[in-house]
Amino acid sequence: MTPDDLKALVRTVPDFPEPGILFRDITTLIGHGAGLAACVGHLAERARSGGADLVAGMEARGFIFGAAVAARLELGFLPVRKPGKLPVPTIGVDYALEYGRDRLEIDPQAIRPGQNVVLVDDLIATGGTALAAAELLRRAGAIVTHALFVIDLPDLHGAARLRDAGIKVEALMD
Ligand code: 5GP
Repeated sequence: MTPDDLKALVRTVPDFPEPGILFRDITTLIGHGAGLAACVGHLAERARSGGADLVAGMEARGFIFGAAVAARLELGFLPVRKPGKLPVPTIGVDYALEYGRDRLEIDPQAIRPGQNVVLVDDLIATGGTALAAAELLRRAGAIVTHALFVIDLPDLHGAARLRDAGIKVEALMD
């Protein structure tokens, strides 16, 4: 299936999680066997050309695609978690959301200095989540030059923010 076919499998839900927001719901895409496989295949191709040594995915939907891409390439997967979830000492970064703040944490022992870590998430909007994850991985010694998404919301200019931080963004669809 082409990225255009995959786009047809994404469901748009109005007024979620708040009135006025159009939520792009990937559960319909991952519920479709051929769609999920094609999506993972397209992302894995890009991760391979990005020279990935390790794949990192952001909680929670980044786990779905990131872990599948890692397995496809026989690479390890590193979960970038919400606070308080990891059972070992972590490093964390606080970042701004449209309303309020959030925090991401990783186990710094999961990265060998100089490893090329490719980021994977379902969607990039403002880029705040991906930038925070990249900052954290870099603090742990990783090289982060590629971030992969199923969906880019180009009006929110997240890809440009990542580019300014030296990260190439690729998305399967806008
Ligand atoms: P950003 O930090 O780039 O502004 O927002 C991206 C993060 O929010 C991603 O982790 C993504 O999962 C989530 N997100 C924001 N809007 C949507 C949406 O419309 N659909 C989905 N599936 N995720 C979204």
